[in-house]
Amino acid sequence: DEIILDLIDSGLKGRGGAGFPTGLKWKFTRNEDSDVKYVICNADEGEPGTFKDRVLLDEYTDDLLAGMTLAGYVIGSDQGIIYLRCEYIYLYKKIEAKIEERRKKNFLGKNVLGKEGFNFDIYIQPGAGAYVCGEETALIESLEGHRGEPRNRPPYPVVVGYLGKPTVVNNVETFITALRIVEKGAEWFKTYGTDKSTGTKLFSISGDCKSPGVYELPMGITVKELLEIAGGEDAKAVQIGGASGRCVTRSEFCSTIAYEDISTGGSIIIFGHHRNMLEVAKNFMEFFAEESCGQCTPCRYGTETLLEGIHMLEEKKCSIKYLKELLQLGETMQVASKCGLGQSAPNAV
Ligand code: SF4
Repeated sequence: DEIILDLIDSGLKGRGGAGFPTGLKWKFTRNEDSDVKYVICNADEGEPGTFKDRVLLDEYTDDLLAGMTLAGYVIGSDQGIIYLRCEYIYLYKKIEAKIEERRKKNFLGKNVLGKEGFNFDIYIQPGAGAYVCGEETALIESLEGHRGEPRNRPPYPVVVGYLGKPTVVNNVETFITALRIVEKGAEWFKTYGTDKSTGTKLFSISGDCKSPGVYELPMGITVKELLEIAGGEDAKAVQIGGASGRCVTRSEFCSTIAYEDISTGGSIIIFGHHRNMLEVAKNFMEFFAEESCGQCTPCRYGTETLLEGIHMLEEKKCSIKYLKELLQLGETMQVASKCGLGQSAPNAV
């Protein structure tokens, strides 16, 4: 209960981008009356332009495993699962070795650290390369051995999750941040960021800049400040939040990166003046058309139709009338698609 209060007080929100308060998620799962509960780490970092969880998985493995163990202790779970992006399979052995090391130290296993009745272990389940499995319910479907298709919500995983049991799903960065908050306190965390977006955040910065890489910066930083840090001041546009995020042009560079302004899971792609933005939109739309799971019509049909529309624009065969129809189709996709993939796919157009 103390840990939950600390997390709620800290204002920590899920670092995957959706921004659900972590303390509440853990509290809801803890409050569920069930003998079996699960802790799942979403390590399916698949948003184009993001690579910061890869660094955490590689260099802060112990912190991740400790963060998951903390979640297990709080919600009353004895099983953690890392759903590892298939492109990160080369990290499997390293993470597995760390898990084994922690078992030997009794940081995992039976009666963890002598705490009678607290049993917790972790295994790794590799994904198979579907972007949509980054969506937590599709991830759970995939874990259960089904096609990776998003479920209808509610019920949410905190009530009906993996194998129908209450489940906490958080990404790599969120578990590690929760651990830091328990170590250093909510007050320390709140010294960074804004009132509504507390703490720091990891950003994967790539594209047309002098110093691409992974940066830890306070929430609430402006796009302009971020560009100065990465040496991308000459940018004409910045894609914030990956292909499913938002493209910000120079007139909006004073906007802040925060849940109350521009929210992001951490992907920042910088576009210099020489970039053809229609080419960028086509690249993103090809990606969505390929990755749509096909379960619902607005997304399955819409992504293909928008991609065809971009081809027509390139060939200068798209009338203004048809362009307006495409934009209307995009709006329909935003409201009628079942999951975030279809809802955000038209953003680039
Ligand atoms: Fe699948 Fe797209 Fe529908 Fe999501 S929006 S469920 S990815 S078809």
